[in-house]
Amino acid sequence: MALIVQKYGGTSVGGVDRIRGVAQRVKSYVDQGHQVVVVVSAMSGETNRLVSMGRDISGDYGSAREMDVLTASGEQVTTSLLSLGLLSIGVQAKSFLADQISIKTDNVHGKARIQEIDTDALRAELDMGCVPIVAGFQGVNALGEITTLGRGGSDTSAVALAAALKADECEICTDVDGVYTTDPRIVESARRLTHITFEEMLELASLGSKVLHPRSVEFAGRYRVPLRVMSTFQDGPGTLITTEKDDMEQPLVSGIAHATDEAKITVAGVPDLPGIASKILGPVGAANIEVDMILQNTGADGLTDFTFTVKRQDYDAAQKILKGISKDINAREISGDNAIAKVSIVGVGMRSHAGVATKMFDCLASENINIQMISTSEIKISVVIAERYVELAVRALHNVFELQNLPE
Ligand code: ADP
Ligand code: ASP
Ligand code: MG
Repeated sequence: MALIVQKYGGTSVGGVDRIRGVAQRVKSYVDQGHQVVVVVSAMSGETNRLVSMGRDISGDYGSAREMDVLTASGEQVTTSLLSLGLLSIGVQAKSFLADQISIKTDNVHGKARIQEIDTDALRAELDMGCVPIVAGFQGVNALGEITTLGRGGSDTSAVALAAALKADECEICTDVDGVYTTDPRIVESARRLTHITFEEMLELASLGSKVLHPRSVEFAGRYRVPLRVMSTFQDGPGTLITTEKDDMEQPLVSGIAHATDEAKITVAGVPDLPGIASKILGPVGAANIEVDMILQNTGADGLTDFTFTVKRQDYDAAQKILKGISKDINAREISGDNAIAKVSIVGVGMRSHAGVATKMFDCLASENINIQMISTSEIKISVVIAERYVELAVRALHNVFELQNLPE
């Protein structure tokens, strides 16, 4: 008998029939004698619908607190429906919202971090043979207010619960049968990976592979939660996220990620003096806007240009902040572009091989794709390009690094 935390994403619970299917799937685990805790997302499209209604009525004034109350409601619907579905086929089940089991988070509405989970209530339910169905994506802050963990955050709810319960495995059940070398919706010949390291998965997730919420991978790595991505709709082993790959020969590149939810801001003609970066980025950070890539040109005539990327949803707010301080920092011009994309190649094998970057840049050049920014770390290389070339770039890179031929 194992204790398994399963998370079902939006497509998996996209309607009553799908939820019936999930109930049958959960029952099959219960029938095998396993203890199961289920985490659910909202029905597919529901969070988007709620967000757009909230934005529509808010105009310029958006209250992050109220947006969380609104968007968290999607998960309340699916927890109760799945619970009803399980009860109707003779499985004891009970729905739980985040505050009922005290999924404590910090106070940052819209991107809250889980700090603590009280597992007593869940353990008591499990001991009585009940399947707890927990609303993903939501938490509660110290004031008792509803918070949410950011888009895709139900994965993190599941892994955090698995860590707190010391579960034997956390299964992320979704509409693909595992983690692929790249988004299979873009590259048909993408391959499913049987294993991927936490390190690589964390990079891929952080760089835009939607299949796992980055923080869920971080949690799983830190608390050693065995994490598996698998299909809700078909049987199969999926992809196991592991600490080490046992094969000695690592592929140079294991996966390609892309992100189209970023925007670029350039602050041109600022004095090339100590402290300028902090003067520009300090106020942006203070507004809780995350900055991703940063580029400062070599100065000329005592002036320099400073470019950075932010999430597209923060683009307007970041520009507003910079326009507000442009006099203080003596900027000549503030400009931006929100039609950009970031494409990244990731692989632990890169550590020990030179020439990967050149191969990437040659490939993009041969497709006539201009690189606007570059950033590298030990196991990844990211480039910013025009958004309209993103699919072309991903396909070309997949081909050049021969990811379709990766051994199982
Ligand atoms: P869920 O609603 O179940 O959380 P998501 O839409 O968040 O599902 O994530 C699954 C989707 O992630 C897949 O349908 C796929 O298009 C996309 N995806 C992006 N990159 C990858 C990848 N490397 N491997 C598998 N799926 C990926
Ligand atoms: N429902 C939330 C979203 O759409 C959380 C999730 O599905 O993981 O982002
Ligand atoms: Mg998801």
